Amino acid sequence: MTSQLSFEVRPNPQARSTSERERVLEAPGFGQTFTDHMVSIDFTEGEGWHDARLEPYGPLVLDPATSVFHYAQELFEGLKAYRQANGSIVAFRPYANAARFNSSAARMAMPELPEDVFVESLELLVQTDREWVPTTEGHSLYLRPFMIATQAGLGVNYPSKTYRYMVIASPAASYFAGGVKPVSVWLSTEYTRAAPGGTGFAKCGGNYAAAFVAQRQAVAEGCDQVVWLDAVEHRYVEEMGGMNLFFVFGDRLLTPALTGTLLPGITRDSILTFAADLGLTAEEGRISIEEWQAGCESGELTEVFACGTAAVVTPVGSVKGADRAWTVGDGTPGPVTLKIRDELMGIQYGTRPDPHNWVHKI
Ligand code: PMP
Repeated sequence: MTSQLSFEVRPNPQARSTSERERVLEAPGFGQTFTDHMVSIDFTEGEGWHDARLEPYGPLVLDPATSVFHYAQELFEGLKAYRQANGSIVAFRPYANAARFNSSAARMAMPELPEDVFVESLELLVQTDREWVPTTEGHSLYLRPFMIATQAGLGVNYPSKTYRYMVIASPAASYFAGGVKPVSVWLSTEYTRAAPGGTGFAKCGGNYAAAFVAQRQAVAEGCDQVVWLDAVEHRYVEEMGGMNLFFVFGDRLLTPALTGTLLPGITRDSILTFAADLGLTAEEGRISIEEWQAGCESGELTEVFACGTAAVVTPVGSVKGADRAWTVGDGTPGPVTLKIRDELMGIQYGTRPDPHNWVHKI
């Protein structure tokens, strides 16, 4: 039974030395190097979750017929642990990630993991590998919980009867090299990310596999990132690569509503919540690419930014599509974007008050 889950701890006898770790932490990049341990919990239909353990980080051995390789029954999460000025470590809204993990699981016909077990697994890994949480300003330890279908067999009609939940962790610098440099975006009209009734709101690997070709097209068009449009009219803005979008009209923020085809970002939700604290109004709605372009041309739409765990808050400087191109504002980071970025990072790194009780001490 889940309520009796206790983690067996198997320390890594080959944990890296202090100097090896420090060398990595000098320039961690993003998602390149992993800490010394990982968490695994197995699930078997009829038995529930079992064999919770913290063990040395290392490769998996899986039968080539394992379900995840063929039918992509898989999902993941992403959040960070932040070092505070006094040396302590916090995670940002881990219960929100737990809830989204379970919402993705329900869509993928996978078992839910009790939220407390999800958070406990993160705490255990971060506590064990706490020396891997960077002390450099703006750096963090990226946590990647995920779940895979582990049943071997090619039957396509039923979901797997067995699963493995895991957590791995990786020290992270800024996601986009260049810090708060504005990104250029490509409007994808050829490809769509998600359609009504599909898996857009779930954080499942298949959504990302299907996105690579559009991201490659964006780069071929000279842009940094792809912006996804709705699947029906190819006009309404949904999100950008792995981030949600906000449109700034003076002191009014607008973000695409959660229609089921975009990921409900935790950063997005946080900004919607704390906007009022900064004297801004924030609403969810709909914006077309024509309105985006016209708003920039009239000056009414002053800034656009993307937000997400990995790259925090990133300004959008210019937009290009098959038959149009324009600049947002003067193409440089705007004051509202920078104020929101400061507020969010201030809460995460403990340099500002946390009125919504979002930081979770580890
Ligand atoms: N959209 C997509 C497609 C994403 O992968 C992410 C990253 N999880 C986001 C938005 C932002 O979500 P969050 O703020 O929870 O990181």
